[in-house]
Amino acid sequence: MPLNSTAKNSPSPWVLMEECCREPWKTYQKPIKMAPGVYYISGNNWVACYLIDTGDGLILIDTGMHETVYLLLENIRQLGYDCHDIKKILLSHAHIDHIGGARTLQELTGADMYLGKRDLMYLHERKDLIMIGDYTCGEFEPDFIYSDDKPIVQGNVSIQTVSTPGHTPGCTSFFFDVKDKKTGKILRCGMHGGIGLSCSKKGLEEMGLPFSLQAEFIEGLKKLDTLHVDVCLPSHTNQVGILLLQDQVTEDFNPYDDPSIWHELMQERLERVLLMVENEKAN
Ligand SMILES: [Zn+2]
Repeated sequence: MPLNSTAKNSPSPWVLMEECCREPWKTYQKPIKMAPGVYYISGNNWVACYLIDTGDGLILIDTGMHETVYLLLENIRQLGYDCHDIKKILLSHAHIDHIGGARTLQELTGADMYLGKRDLMYLHERKDLIMIGDYTCGEFEPDFIYSDDKPIVQGNVSIQTVSTPGHTPGCTSFFFDVKDKKTGKILRCGMHGGIGLSCSKKGLEEMGLPFSLQAEFIEGLKKLDTLHVDVCLPSHTNQVGILLLQDQVTEDFNPYDDPSIWHELMQERLERVLLMVENEKAN
């Protein structure tokens, strides 16, 4: 079954934001184990947030929206963890569906917050670019910016960041290994920080962002497609059908352990962006 077939038919982000934020209880999603010690925990069925158990504290990737944070916290509790053990919060990019809960979670946990350098501009000068609609986004400052030559280490997990501009200028992707204690197998987990096609010529012009982001986006997808990733962690569930597979997860079987999912996603996105560029040239 092609897992990457859901994106094209998915409702617009505006519709999905509305559903998740106005009535969060209707879009609740229980935690999903993606890999040993790695869980999908956003508490909604659209935006991905991942919790990583490092053996010495937790890492959270992305926060979801302010309006859905209470369900994210509930999911952490359900897994038997304490949110105060979150030591690091890694933000993929400065769009509201990924950073809307950042202020709340930074205050609650005291965790170190990370963001891509080129997205600082969104926080300081172009707040209009963060927003979709009139949703809450408390102000916050990241404690660190990513450097791709310096992994982020917590406990027994070391996260390699890769700057992947395009969806936003500071968009950052994450790669790390986890070990299956039962089998001893090492699983490479990977998340592209943002693959929404927000880099059309018209879109970039309207946002006042450099046209070069389009080429950077394509370059990033090509580069990431060369990497081996056992477990693809999508930034939204409509990129890869992870919700469709959740019932298959057992103690001994992980349906997400499939390197083809990563390549299919990178390829599908590359095809779509190249088609977009071709159409732009033709018009
Ligand atoms: Zn985004």
